[in-house]
Amino acid sequence: MKQRTIVLAVIGVVSLVGGYAAFGEADIRNYPECHTCGTSRRECSHDRMVVEYADGTKRAECGLHCAADTLLTQPSRQPKRFRVADYESKRLIDADKAQWVVYDNRNQCRGSTVELAFADGKAADRFIARYGGKRIDFGGALKIAYYEAAARLLPSGR
Ligand SMILES: [Zn+2]
Repeated sequence: MKQRTIVLAVIGVVSLVGGYAAFGEADIRNYPECHTCGTSRRECSHDRMVVEYADGTKRAECGLHCAADTLLTQPSRQPKRFRVADYESKRLIDADKAQWVVYDNRNQCRGSTVELAFADGKAADRFIARYGGKRIDFGGALKIAYYEAAARLLPSGR
């Protein structure tokens, strides 16, 4: 009897966790690839974004850099809401309420800087203590991504 209770409790926890994970990744199921570059959003689940526009459309991006590409190349679209993955839980959170960290990563294939979002400021500070970087607000992170997107999109002139 006791064993059965434990088994049922384990099944309950597993299905709770499974349900939670499935809920948190619904946008990955619906949009498995980045609308801008085609990268697997599961591989970028830690920094993926979903941007909602005033015309009711959504774009699923692999990260802030691709979101900035879209904003630069489609300036007539009015973004209404930015959601970004919490780096730790991978759940989507409001980008303007997130604690952003920018850090330099010259080897990163999508640019020399990386902007990551955290739901919890202490988690952001732990990341900085381990990997470096600095805290920044969403406006600042978006500005950096804009500059890098513009540099990528402009002809090199060489
Ligand atoms: Zn992308």
